[in-house]
Amino acid sequence: METLEITTQSPKETQNIARLFVKELMRFNLVRNGALVVALEGDLGGGKTTFAQGFAKGLGIREKILSPTFVIMRIFNMRKSDFRKFVHIDAYRLKDAKELQTLGWKDILKERHAIVLVEWADRVRRALPEEYIRIQFEFVDEKTRKIVLNHES
Ligand code: ADP
Ligand code: MG
Repeated sequence: METLEITTQSPKETQNIARLFVKELMRFNLVRNGALVVALEGDLGGGKTTFAQGFAKGLGIREKILSPTFVIMRIFNMRKSDFRKFVHIDAYRLKDAKELQTLGWKDILKERHAIVLVEWADRVRRALPEEYIRIQFEFVDEKTRKIVLNHES
């Protein structure tokens, strides 16, 4: 398991990290037989949605990325890379992994051209694929966040 730790001092910096990170993911074009899942974990205000905003920007998505808390899932189509679909999920209001299944989760996971970002992924860990990228957000102080990336497999 590889781990990478980054500390950021502003929301802008967290967005930039996310933007560069997803650009690397696009460049590597990882061989996979399903969707690429990026699971975001950590407390409220940790920076998950802020990270999602930079991530979407890196994918070339122009729409504004809001916290999807009240809609649970938003889907964006794109044509810039091997990824054709960006799925942004906020699991905060989901009771458990089973509830994710009602949103068509199994079919999403089968899509080789989808990249999926799940906020509050710890709530639905049982539904995550065998292999995924896990990113934890820790609140250090008002301006500082520790971001820990892991490749789970
Ligand atoms: P979450 O989705 O994890 O609940 P948000 O991204 O919605 O978190 O909120 C993070 C909050 O923390 C925002 O108000 C943002 O402005 C603030 N913030 C302060 N410093 C940082 C930082 N270094 N990285 C990300 N967000 C930060
Ligand atoms: Mg959020």
